[in-house]
Parts: sequence; structure tokens; C-alpha cells
Amino acid sequence: MRKIEHIGIAVKDIEGSNTLFKSLFGKAHYKIEDVESEGVKTSFFKCGPNKIELLQATKADSPIAKFIEKKGEGIHHIAFAVDDIEKEIKRLTKEGFKMIHEKPKKGADNKLIAFLHPKSTNGVLVELCQEIMD
Ligand code: ZN
Repeated sequence: MRKIEHIGIAVKDIEGSNTLFKSLFGKAHYKIEDVESEGVKTSFFKCGPNKIELLQATKADSPIAKFIEKKGEGIHHIAFAVDDIEKEIKRLTKEGFKMIHEKPKKGADNKLIAFLHPKSTNGVLVELCQEIMD
């Protein structure tokens, strides 16, 4: 893994949170994206070299809706940049980590993504992401 790519924060109302985080960072989000397959709407902020992703559920059965129901709003996942996501999934599986996605899928922000099961990472939901080159 190369570095933290972004931190994901689950929110109930992304419009309101965009305003809140704009005040916090002194800068508005630079992108909004719907990820239909995950049932989420996302927005991205830059804070220096770091990125923050806000996530709001667009469907009642989306993972973000379930997360907020159980734990409330807050930090949802930490994403790490990897160069070769397929290779990293194989390596981590061999190490005994449980993957939520055994095959990478298309995520927000032009990335291939895969999540590890938080049960195998001390309760931290870890996302792997690889930039899609085109
Ligand atoms: Zn993410």
C-alpha cells in the first residue's frame, strides 16, 4: 500500500455537510458523484495533500444507510492507494484478511475499489483503491 488515499465520512445530509466542511476547510468540495452500484452520493474535498469523501445513502438498504442506523454519522472508512489492486487482494487474502469484495469494482473518483471486512481489521473498514488509467 502506498498511502492513505482518502478518509470516508458517513453523513445524513450531504448538502448540509458540504456547507459544514466548506467552513471547516475554507474551501468547497471539488466534485460530487453518484455511485449507483453502492447506493451512495459522494462529495470530495481537498485538505492540503489529503482527501475527504463524504457519503450519503441514496437507498434505504445501502451500506451507508445501515452504518448510520447502527453507529450514527462519522468516520466510515480509510482508503489506501495501491498500484495493483488484484495483486493486493491476493496478497491480503493469503495473509488471512477477509475481503468484502474479492474482485475489484468501479468506485467513485475514477477508481477500482475493494473493501476488507472490518472484522479482520480491528473494526476499521479498509478500502483499497487503484486509479483507473485511461
Ligand atoms: Zn472511499
